[in-house]
Amino acid sequence: MSISQNLKLIQDSLPQEVTLVAVSKTKPNEAILEAYKSGQRIFGENKIQEMTQKYEDLPKDIEWHMIGHVQRNKVKYMAPFVSLIHGVDSFKLLKEINKQAEKYDRVIDCLFQMHIADEETKFGLSKDELMEILASKEFALLENINIKGLMGMATNTDDEAKVASEFKSLQQLFITLQHSKTLNLNIEILSMGMSGDYKLAIANGSNMVRIGSTIFGERNYQ
Ligand SMILES: *Cc1c(COP(=O)(O)O)cnc(C)c1O
Repeated sequence: MSISQNLKLIQDSLPQEVTLVAVSKTKPNEAILEAYKSGQRIFGENKIQEMTQKYEDLPKDIEWHMIGHVQRNKVKYMAPFVSLIHGVDSFKLLKEINKQAEKYDRVIDCLFQMHIADEETKFGLSKDELMEILASKEFALLENINIKGLMGMATNTDDEAKVASEFKSLQQLFITLQHSKTLNLNIEILSMGMSGDYKLAIANGSNMVRIGSTIFGERNYQ
């Protein structure tokens, strides 16, 4: 099946309120353009350099989402154009994003990445760490970031009950935080679900899914 056929099947299966991020990491510009021609405008990348190159090469109405782990010293490269950063997992990183956004006179939308999986290797904040950030005076002063929601990755397992319960725990936190709105905290997006688990994620409250291999085929590396 072609990229546009894969894309159409997924788009048709998603509820209206769920936004699709087409994860194009490691894939060439031609593959992205094929999806673009089928109407897809939101693409996710996990490496800042790769995303920046693609931003330069491809149509300017694409919204680029950074879905991977972000190194602070590279924030400056994406600050002029990135549309949503999913992987904010430390206060230091958030402050760097704010600083770079200020330089470009922008407000950058961000999600806090929460640790919900069992695996040690997956990045993310604990609930306590998140609450500490939100309660700090310093956070309230950040005018060039807007926290739009939460992102999480479930454990990579066949145990659907376990994955569902991890998604559910994040949904609970999402609902709780929606009640505390401030200038830079406007919780609307719950980013959970990839090719293998997006249906389960949607059943547990996700309204943004990040899907790569089901659209573009398996990746050769990374
Ligand atoms: C690669 C990646 C995805 C997409 O994974 P697929 O299994 O190819 O759909 C989603 N989210 C993050 C954070 C990723 O790094």
